[in-house]
Amino acid sequence: MDDIWDCIVVGGGAAGLSTALVLGRARQRTLVIDAGEPSNAVSHGIGGLLGHDGRPPAELYASGREELGAYPSVEIRAGSVVAGRRKDSGLVLELADASSVRARRVVLATGMDYRYPAVPGIEARWGRSVFHCPFCHGWEVRDRALGVLDRGAMGVHRALLLCVWSDDVTLFSNGPAELDDAEAALLAAAGVTVDEGPVAELRGPGDEMETVAFDDGTERACRGLLVPVTTHQRSTLAQQLGARAAEPGPVAADAIDVDAMLQTSAAGVSAAGDVSSQMPSAASAIAAGSMAAAMIVRDIVAETHHLAT
Ligand SMILES: Cc1cc2nc3c(=O)[nH]c(=O)nc-3n(C[C@H](O)[C@H](O)[C@H](O)COP(=O)(O)OP(=O)(O)OC[C@H]3O[C@@H](n4cnc5c(N)ncnc54)[C@H](O)[C@@H]3O)c2cc1C
Repeated sequence: MDDIWDCIVVGGGAAGLSTALVLGRARQRTLVIDAGEPSNAVSHGIGGLLGHDGRPPAELYASGREELGAYPSVEIRAGSVVAGRRKDSGLVLELADASSVRARRVVLATGMDYRYPAVPGIEARWGRSVFHCPFCHGWEVRDRALGVLDRGAMGVHRALLLCVWSDDVTLFSNGPAELDDAEAALLAAAGVTVDEGPVAELRGPGDEMETVAFDDGTERACRGLLVPVTTHQRSTLAQQLGARAAEPGPVAADAIDVDAMLQTSAAGVSAAGDVSSQMPSAASAIAAGSMAAAMIVRDIVAETHHLAT
């Protein structure tokens, strides 16, 4: 087992790298352990991240890692944390290669597993012509025939939102649309078409979309499709370390519960990025990592000097 680290950051995506940057600049001995599977890896570009708008995700992570190279107290290790426990006043993490590491503080920045509807054709287009966030991907498909795969009140909300990017929006409810008269009238007034046909598959070359195809053999034009997602913990690590889950929200089914300082219910364990968020985005993951790190340093100083917090 290595010496004790000031902080181990589990996950080296947007949140984890941002955490490590602030910790490194504050001269904390920091180990980042990263399994290398950020959730947005499939996308062509990151939409809406100031200074990096449209930049391929892999480029952002490579440049983040390069920046961390300037800070000698930070090490990045490829690997996967498979278990965690509390030992004495610290925390012990076990890696898939059977090694273990110890730290005073841990930041969980493990991202989330995004789950989308099981419709044939979504997987091949996920993060490209099929997306969960119009703020991330809407600009790229603006003014085209767009669709929302959803029903009921959320379907109405998403279809009206998508009208920001196109005048040609269809609500594909894949069965009864479950709309009351007022909702149906709202959509009609906004020019949204409702198609209740059972969806067979998405069609189009490669990762592009041209149509939604129905069970009866008919098709409707659609060049970009907004789908509902829920996000889920990728492992039971938070639970093993004693961090409580938040109440299920509209997006995250089991986000880690954090306070305003991004500290979890488990002493010495913080959580930043998608793992503790109901509004996942690259910008908010970076901001959360930065905040978690600053709060940890503040906490360490308070502890060292016996300050009241
Ligand atoms: C398809 C898609 C497209 C998106 N497009 C955009 C966009 O255009 N604009 C935007 O703002 N947002 C976008 N988002 C959202 C944005 O990408 C995320 O909010 C952000 O990347 C979350 O960063 P994170 O660091 O919390 O998690 P991630 O980026 O998922 O990184 C988590 C890292 O932790 C690692 N990890 C997980 N478990 C372990 C473990 N046990 N041990 C070691 N490492 C582990 C993972 O392998 C991964 O490398 C998109 C999301 C998706 C799914």
